[in-house]
Amino acid sequence: MILPRTAEAIVVGGGVMGASTAYHLALAGMRDILLLEREEFFGTGATGRCAGGVRYQFATEINIRLSLESLPMLERFKEEIGQEIDYRKIGYIFLLTNQEDVINFKRIVDQQNHLGAQTQWLNGAEIQRWLPLMCLKDVIAGSFNPRDGLVDPNGVVMGYINAAQRMGCNTFTGTSVTSILRRSNRVVGVKTQGEEISSPVVVDATGPWAGSTGQMAGLEIPITPLRRQWLTTTAIHELPPDFPFVIDFAQSLYFHPEGQGLLTGMSNPHEKPGFNQNIDPEWELVHLDAAIDRLPLLESVGLISRVAGLYEVTPDAHPIFGKTPVEGYYIVTGFSGHGFMHGPIAGMLMSEIILNGRASTVDVSMLDLARFSEGRLIQEYNVV
Ligand SMILES: Cc1cc2nc3c(=O)[nH]c(=O)nc-3n(C[C@H](O)[C@H](O)[C@H](O)COP(=O)(O)OP(=O)(O)OC[C@H]3O[C@@H](n4cnc5c(N)ncnc54)[C@H](O)[C@@H]3O)c2cc1C
Repeated sequence: MILPRTAEAIVVGGGVMGASTAYHLALAGMRDILLLEREEFFGTGATGRCAGGVRYQFATEINIRLSLESLPMLERFKEEIGQEIDYRKIGYIFLLTNQEDVINFKRIVDQQNHLGAQTQWLNGAEIQRWLPLMCLKDVIAGSFNPRDGLVDPNGVVMGYINAAQRMGCNTFTGTSVTSILRRSNRVVGVKTQGEEISSPVVVDATGPWAGSTGQMAGLEIPITPLRRQWLTTTAIHELPPDFPFVIDFAQSLYFHPEGQGLLTGMSNPHEKPGFNQNIDPEWELVHLDAAIDRLPLLESVGLISRVAGLYEVTPDAHPIFGKTPVEGYYIVTGFSGHGFMHGPIAGMLMSEIILNGRASTVDVSMLDLARFSEGRLIQEYNVV
């Protein structure tokens, strides 16, 4: 297929943000949309390396509201988009091991429930009874939401892309955007390897690479790429069928069922910013020691796979939505480790911003790019 020379809108980046934005623009009636992905396949960036977790349990009102819209969209996905995405409501439990976290989480759970998230509070003894395979003597309490769970990231990306294509959206892989074309303060298109494509609207959905893409448009987008990694194990026959997504909050250590075994990861607090997506073997040893301390039977299982990918981190761990100082150049990125689950609503909000000038389903006006220069940061506590 030959790249078109013009488009009504160009979406750069074929992860969950680009796929959902292209789909929602097409659904809202835009026909001449071009989605460009530089890799050979869609969804092989952060989205294809994510752990697939979806949760209502956030600390700030805006993140909870994004989940309250986005997770039901995932529940309706098969019906609305026609693609199975295997939503498994196994619940997330946050294990809390110090009083400061207990005090903060009590407030956070109240806020979640006030907004309708239906999160439960468990004491240490209740948690130990539920998870006898785990060593939880230091766990004081925990929060649990049975509607949190797991979803297949590839299914979501391909579901949106196939649906967008059916509505006439042109999609290309193996196509890298190398320049953003501007005429004074207005975007007028993009350049790929050789081709210029003109368009009055360009959406930067390049995730961890959004800072570099923004530079092509002459913008400073504060995105830090930060490596994170996880591994999966061989079958663990002792695991009970109700084993949830377990997060040891203070250690940023997590476990969830994957196939017949577990997926486990741990965030390295000393990771240096950069685009390295190779596994860090030293950190893997630190992670495995901590994981075995919590779940001793891991010592006797094998490893099946390891994955490393990049979080797209902003200074306040909240995303950046919408317009930029360059007219026609929009951005949707910076979800700081939990963007997969917010991809559905993010694409819908981007279509509202582009077509109507503002997002109406959820007010995300406080998540604009200008908040960094104007000092309006909003800190998120529940970052894993
Ligand atoms: C290890 C790990 C675990 C995670 N676990 C979870 C989780 O459990 N739950 C959750 O909700 N989130 C999780 N996340 C975060 C989530 O994966 C991201 O927030 C989300 O996928 C970001 O989507 P995106 O579309 O913005 O970025 P990406 O998926 O990275 O998509 C951006 C795309 O842009 C393309 N691109 C870049 N530059 C160009 C260019 N110049 N031209 C054309 N294309 C370009 C890239 O190739 C890439 O495909 C995790 C992330 C990692 C790394």
